[in-house]
Amino acid sequence: MARYTGAVCRLCRREGMKLYLKGDRCYSEKCALSQKAYAPGQHGQGRKKVSEYGIQLREKQKVKRIYGVQEKQFRRYFDKAERQRGVCGENLLRLLELRLDNVVYRLGMASSRVDARQLVRHGHFTVNGKKVNIPSYSVRTGEVIAFREASKASPKIEGIIAAISGKQTPSWLELDKDAMTGKVVNLPAREDIDLPIEEHLIVELCSR
Ligand code: SF4
Repeated sequence: MARYTGAVCRLCRREGMKLYLKGDRCYSEKCALSQKAYAPGQHGQGRKKVSEYGIQLREKQKVKRIYGVQEKQFRRYFDKAERQRGVCGENLLRLLELRLDNVVYRLGMASSRVDARQLVRHGHFTVNGKKVNIPSYSVRTGEVIAFREASKASPKIEGIIAAISGKQTPSWLELDKDAMTGKVVNLPAREDIDLPIEEHLIVELCSR
């Protein structure tokens, strides 16, 4: 699956908000957005009139960049969300939240979604005891996510395990800090997803 490989801080500057793509650096003074709080490029500091379409497009781009999905994959999520019962925008965010890389990040088992995606790709996780290395894997309620036994000896995973005691997990997830396993206990409701996104704008754009 294709993925964006350019400079990620540019994406935050383009969207004018922190997308938390670089782990600990995002919480430090080194964050590029604290130093250059304007859009990248020659005209980044100019005044712009944004059309209704432009506002809707930016909202969609934010979501794609936060979850690290490309256009084609995003369209598939949107089509699935449309077919589900309930509010389309909320369905869309729920589908994205249930991606394995996002669940790993939310559990505190990775410093960012980008980091989580790489750890999953490298086969460091199991779901219900079976190795899963597909970041877009959709985690179901009751499934247990754990580090693979062989991975626990790696210095990186040891560091994550040592730091996990101070992490907070959202209410729809359960983290067993002794066994180092995580579980989806409920499907996330909109209020559980702490993203400043106006998903109805995305629905309006994609339904055109
Ligand atoms: Fe975005 Fe993190 Fe870079 Fe700051 S450090 S601009 S939040 S990716």
